[in-house]
Amino acid sequence: MVDFKKLCEKYDTPLYVYDFNKIEENFLSLKKAFKARKSIISYAIKANSNLSVLKKLASLGSGADCVSIGEIKRALIAGIPKYKIVFSGVGKRDEEIREALELDILFINLESEAEMDRVEEIAKSLDKKARISIRVNPDIDPKTHPYISTGLSENKFGVDIESAKKMYLRANKSSYLEPVGIHFHIGSQLTDIEPIKEASRIVADLTRALINIGIEIKFFDIGGGLGIVYKDEKTIKPYDYAQAIFSNLKGLDLTVVCEPGRYIVGNAGYFLTKVLYEKRTKNKRFIIVDGAMNDLLRPSLYKAYHKVEVLRNDEAKSKADVVGPVCESGDFLAKDAFLPKTKHNDIIVVYSAGAYGFVMSSNYNTRPRAAEIAVEDGKDRVIRDRESFEDLIALEKKYL
Ligand SMILES: *Cc1c(COP(=O)(O)O)cnc(C)c1O
Repeated sequence: MVDFKKLCEKYDTPLYVYDFNKIEENFLSLKKAFKARKSIISYAIKANSNLSVLKKLASLGSGADCVSIGEIKRALIAGIPKYKIVFSGVGKRDEEIREALELDILFINLESEAEMDRVEEIAKSLDKKARISIRVNPDIDPKTHPYISTGLSENKFGVDIESAKKMYLRANKSSYLEPVGIHFHIGSQLTDIEPIKEASRIVADLTRALINIGIEIKFFDIGGGLGIVYKDEKTIKPYDYAQAIFSNLKGLDLTVVCEPGRYIVGNAGYFLTKVLYEKRTKNKRFIIVDGAMNDLLRPSLYKAYHKVEVLRNDEAKSKADVVGPVCESGDFLAKDAFLPKTKHNDIIVVYSAGAYGFVMSSNYNTRPRAAEIAVEDGKDRVIRDRESFEDLIALEKKYL
């Protein structure tokens, strides 16, 4: 158990807290589910890229799914081996492609023909053969929030089956490209297994066709997207997830690459904030806290639900919005939550904040980013300092 009160006294608020034992449990449950086949769990760093989180996952044997050269460098610094790192993302700068090739990571996921041209040209200039994988868009509705749905033809991600085939044929002829993998990722916070099953069936069929014409696909990269419980969602069990994939891979000797982000860290993280005061308008009750949308953007960006709880034993509860000090009406952490009457300095725990929490935070309103704390085996430690005002102005002050 995490002692939220003690942590707030010791480190102040707003504060991110990650339960490293829970991260380990989540990682190992997925690893175990996939153990019947060769597999790499390549954690999607964008969900939470704190170096200590990455180091913890590296120690468990995790790989990394990265969407920028910065994320690749984080993975390497944290001790994740290069042969378990994949580079995804719809737009990559020339320098990023060059560095990824020089660092010799496992493969680059391509999302367009134009991108393949760039990778080929840069590989040629380095006299290297680029290991690549193509992100196929299977045109499947993942039934999740439109902002985090990525596998529909209307989304900007990946290429359709026919274009993918053409790209593989061309890549296979190139002296500078080596098509080793195939990739799909249909969306995030998936809670229904059918779309995943259908997508993997479509992509597995394409893989068979490619292997039959002599293209040596070795990696079947199923993306991430496994959902978690924020409220009362029915989620997919890791075992059922793995079995759904395996059922479509009969007769294929492939290494399955899985890129979970949210599933690994989401429910292992908490955001702690203190009550400043309450305020009532004609028909609404507001609890104004010291954490805000710049710290945790998901409610504002996606209208995402996070469970909130006041650390106070009080039976009488009424509806309230939990809002931050930022000058935006969209600045809220919870809406219409049933909460007890609060007092100054009461602590509010925002649950399931480990994924897409701190990493999306900003300095809007000149607010320093929160500190990050790890709790492991009953001990707590700082893994990122709270930013200071001096940190915030450092890159500007010299021009005064
Ligand atoms: C965001 C992303 C992931 C991780 O998604 P989660 O929903 O956090 O599991 C994996 N792969 C790719 C390509 C992504 O863009």
